[in-house]
Amino acid sequence: MVKENLEYVEKKVKAACERVGRDRSEVTLIAVSKTKPVDMIRQAMEAGAIDFGENKVQEMCDKMDVIPEQLNWHMIGHLQRNKVKYIVDRVYLIHSVDSIRLAEQINIEAKKKNVICNILIEVNVAQEESKFGVLKEEIEPLLTEIAKLDYVRVKGFMTVAPFVENPEDNRKYFKEMKKLFIDIKQKNYDNIDMEILSMGMTGDYEVAIEEGATMIRVGTGIFGERNYNI
Ligand SMILES: *Cc1c(COP(=O)(O)O)cnc(C)c1O
Repeated sequence: MVKENLEYVEKKVKAACERVGRDRSEVTLIAVSKTKPVDMIRQAMEAGAIDFGENKVQEMCDKMDVIPEQLNWHMIGHLQRNKVKYIVDRVYLIHSVDSIRLAEQINIEAKKKNVICNILIEVNVAQEESKFGVLKEEIEPLLTEIAKLDYVRVKGFMTVAPFVENPEDNRKYFKEMKKLFIDIKQKNYDNIDMEILSMGMTGDYEVAIEEGATMIRVGTGIFGERNYNI
């Protein structure tokens, strides 16, 4: 089932790229495996997946421990500062940085392990009360501070768009993210490489790709519905 789902998503990703004249290689598909068992991750690996997203440190580490193969592990969930030390040298990219305090903690732990940690700034583009992420006007002050940290490298932005029935309703937010992304890229801040725009989930990844996403995070569409009660 995982294999078939991945093939279906892959077909949709290709089609979305073609609609807007983008090359398929410009978009990384992250298989969001949170709450899902290791055997399903293995099925996805066998079907060619190498990028996996998790939102809890403990769960991510447990899975890394039993899967020795080289994979790109993405931390996509809210990260507590006291947990940074467990993942800073194992994670491929942290998508969810939204404060200078968290960035400083990542810097401290990355320095101890002598690694550079790649991060994205999480932007709350729709200004939803319930969401993590910085507001648009907070982006530049935060970037200016993070740019001073030697062991942290900003690679771009991530956003979690609102939950909507019709993915077209999120197009305006994806457009806005792309604009912010280009704007910051053109300012050429030292120590900031604007390369990654992480946006789009199962319900809206096709629209996100049309609007310029370079990473999409798909869970349900690959692994099926999640059950948080088990
Ligand atoms: C769970 C999650 C996803 C995947 O959501 P689906 O709707 O199942 O594709 C993507 N991004 C983040 C930040 C998540 O927490």
